[in-house]
Amino acid sequence: MKLALIGFGQAGGKVVDEFLAYERTIDGSFVESAIAVNSATADLQGLEQIPTENRVLIGQTRVKGHGVGADNELGATVTEEDIDEIQGAVDCVPVHEIDAFLVVAGMGGGTGSGGAPVLAKHLKRIYSEPVYGLGILPATDEGGIYTLNAARSFQTFVHEVDNLLVFDNDAWRQTGESVRGGYGQINREIAERFGLLFAAGEVTEGDHVAESVVDSSEIINTLSGGGISTVGYARETVENPTDGLLSKFRDGHSTDELSATNRMTSLIRKAALGRLTLPCDISSAERGLAVATGPPAYLNRKGVERGRKWLEEETGSMEIRGGDYPLVGEREVGSIVLLSGVTSVPRIETLQQVAIDAKHRTADVQAQSHEQFSSLMDTGGEIDALF
Ligand code: GDP
Repeated sequence: MKLALIGFGQAGGKVVDEFLAYERTIDGSFVESAIAVNSATADLQGLEQIPTENRVLIGQTRVKGHGVGADNELGATVTEEDIDEIQGAVDCVPVHEIDAFLVVAGMGGGTGSGGAPVLAKHLKRIYSEPVYGLGILPATDEGGIYTLNAARSFQTFVHEVDNLLVFDNDAWRQTGESVRGGYGQINREIAERFGLLFAAGEVTEGDHVAESVVDSSEIINTLSGGGISTVGYARETVENPTDGLLSKFRDGHSTDELSATNRMTSLIRKAALGRLTLPCDISSAERGLAVATGPPAYLNRKGVERGRKWLEEETGSMEIRGGDYPLVGEREVGSIVLLSGVTSVPRIETLQQVAIDAKHRTADVQAQSHEQFSSLMDTGGEIDALF
């Protein structure tokens, strides 16, 4: 499926940059246009893939290119004020060619956290194409302000998009490693999982177009009920990507077919039960999509069907779709599972609770320091101010 990607803030820009790099490695084409929006000049300059003319600096009159700090209310304000600048860049997107917009942002900061929901709302008012969000949650060790920002942004963003795809930095940092040091690897994971999913709906002519190939409408329909979504991915390397299995099929070795079926079914299970972009209870999903990826000879139809049925049972949903994304010459066979409309997400509940605590603590500290300042300055009326 073809997307107009808009990276908002530092994390958003870097992840969109990574999507562009990833797209080249799979020889796919899911990015129609890529735009970066930021209030910090340095962050825009640090991008590598997004064309310079598609980088939009906002909030110049207020913050002079220095960013909004972690103030997401200011991020929202400068976005509202400079929405025409952003629209100017979006005007260059051939909207008739795209299937959807995807607004990408880190939820814990300022510019993306505050600005992404404002932009999503604006895009939805203007265009009939779906507007999806890709929201990145901060790691728990980033501190109260980031958690509070993320909780507020999440609450807003989810209502302004047609579906909010979520990636949780906390679930993805390596043990013992600070998440800030490890963004390179994390961003590649994000680009790979979501990139493969979106590329799957964009199999072009000349590729192995079979009736079981996933179409962009299946991704759109899976996302269409709104709410929040998570993605799982599992893969394994195969020895002979070109025709190894096919030749065995021709010889009629049913055991090989059986092992290909089993492999695909268990890849779908592994994808759904392994590490999701947003960990959740998969039984709470409303809709789902299982995509088999890899060399055409390994995309076992029966395996996908069995995996799809298993997913139906696990989620209790009747809306589970399945299909293929053939990748000729790849050495890996895999499965991507998109679970949409998930509601049992302990991570979000914790985030909200920590944010509420942080808000109360901040209010207490402010009240206390007000009191202490008043008592510090209280001279019992002995010293008069000048004016
Ligand atoms: P902004 O520029 O004001 O929107 O803020 P940032 O994007 O710098 O940071 C917002 C949050 O995004 C941080 O709290 C981190 O959780 C996360 N973050 C920052 N940079 C990256 C990145 O490159 N990758 C990922 N996955 N997360 C990031």
